[in-house]
Amino acid sequence: MNQTPKIAIIGGGASGVFCAINIKESRPEADVTVLEAGIHPLHKLSMTGGGCCNITNDFEGVGALQQVYPRGYNLLKKLFHDFDHAAAVEWFTRHGIPLYTQDDHRIFPVSNSATDVCNRLLGTLNRLGIWMLTGRKVTAISVNPDNKFSLQTSSGDDISDELFDAVVVATGGWHRDALYDSLSALGVEMLPPVPSLFSLKVKSNLLTNLMGASVANAAVQIPGQKFRAEGGLMVTHFGFSGPAILKLSSYAARHLADNNYKCDILINWLGKTEDDTRAELTDIMDVNSRKSITSAHPRGLTQRLWEYLINRAEIAPATKYSELGKKNLNKLVSTLTADIHHVSGRGQFQDEFVTCGGVSLNSVNSKTLESKNVPHLYFTGEALDVDAITGGYNLQGCWTTGYVAAKAIN
Ligand SMILES: Cc1cc2nc3c(=O)[nH]c(=O)nc-3n(C[C@H](O)[C@H](O)[C@H](O)COP(=O)(O)OP(=O)(O)OC[C@H]3O[C@@H](n4cnc5c(N)ncnc54)[C@H](O)[C@@H]3O)c2cc1C
Repeated sequence: MNQTPKIAIIGGGASGVFCAINIKESRPEADVTVLEAGIHPLHKLSMTGGGCCNITNDFEGVGALQQVYPRGYNLLKKLFHDFDHAAAVEWFTRHGIPLYTQDDHRIFPVSNSATDVCNRLLGTLNRLGIWMLTGRKVTAISVNPDNKFSLQTSSGDDISDELFDAVVVATGGWHRDALYDSLSALGVEMLPPVPSLFSLKVKSNLLTNLMGASVANAAVQIPGQKFRAEGGLMVTHFGFSGPAILKLSSYAARHLADNNYKCDILINWLGKTEDDTRAELTDIMDVNSRKSITSAHPRGLTQRLWEYLINRAEIAPATKYSELGKKNLNKLVSTLTADIHHVSGRGQFQDEFVTCGGVSLNSVNSKTLESKNVPHLYFTGEALDVDAITGGYNLQGCWTTGYVAAKAIN
């Protein structure tokens, strides 16, 4: 590359801006330009963590990385040696963004403000002399005979071409657009993008009355598949949501898309084994034998949810615990631990948080994130086939890949 390399970052999101800053900090002579299609750089970052910006996670209690990164865990395992969550905490603190860790292991800025984080990052970009060109959509990328990248950009009706020595693709979750096709034409393997982290639609009259009900520790799974998740579960006006469902949608993102978001879902309302559930119910029966079964219920359930489960198990609510009998006890255990519903679609009340798919990890060097086919072409963030469950892991993926690509360019 030139003494003063011209580097383009396509996409002014979290990973692109982070990469640009890290390039320029270690190579001040580089001419770095961020090309951002939208008017506001870091738009998605400004919405993260409900506006508070869940920057990363302390990863305590994460056994295998696969638990939190359904796609990209092997790559990140390697790259975390270069830049992990501790490095991110140090980096942000050093750049005037002190952080704190919540009891649930999520890490936030002390200001609790995503806007503050965005302003600091953009301020750093400006101070370092990095060009941020907004309203510039890159529509094509090609390589000249002298190995320079030609980027075609459009801004309204204005279409222009510019040459660069190196390019970082940091476009976030993909749509099938001109740039996607252009990269495919260069030999970059692209995996079709599908949404991840969404709620599930379930049509059931029984559930309608349960709207707003929630449990803290459910277990959900897709019968006959390996996908299983645990955590909070909420009944909404259209089906199920909450951490357990979002996690399941992440683990099963590709499977659900392939099946047009139609499948069965099995709910274990208390996340306990059949034996433990039976033991708890038996204790309740012993203590409340003279009372009706609606009068006492397992801990962790609301009265409304308990009445739903009794109804679902087709047991008369007036039945006394002493009259329940083994058959009905079995029905209750089965409904509590394996309540099956049919999913008819995915929730669409908001944008998906992240996208599964994108640049295949087979087509990038796992140490540098450089394309195996096209030298000096790099990929970061969600543009890669890397995505995570909620909790700050997605942004950590952006910081790590942004840092590693920047270091490789230097
Ligand atoms: C509502 C919401 C809340 C979230 N909360 C969290 C959270 O708390 N913690 C967490 O870890 N993750 C969270 N995420 C996920 C996280 O925001 C993303 O993983 C992260 O922003 C991805 O960063 P990125 O740089 O890869 O892409 P993006 O942030 O999406 O940025 C890509 C940029 O590229 C631009 N672009 C795209 N195509 C072109 C083109 N052809 N030419 C020029 N520019 C282009 C886009 O306009 C965009 O600005 C949340 C996501 C959403 C939507």
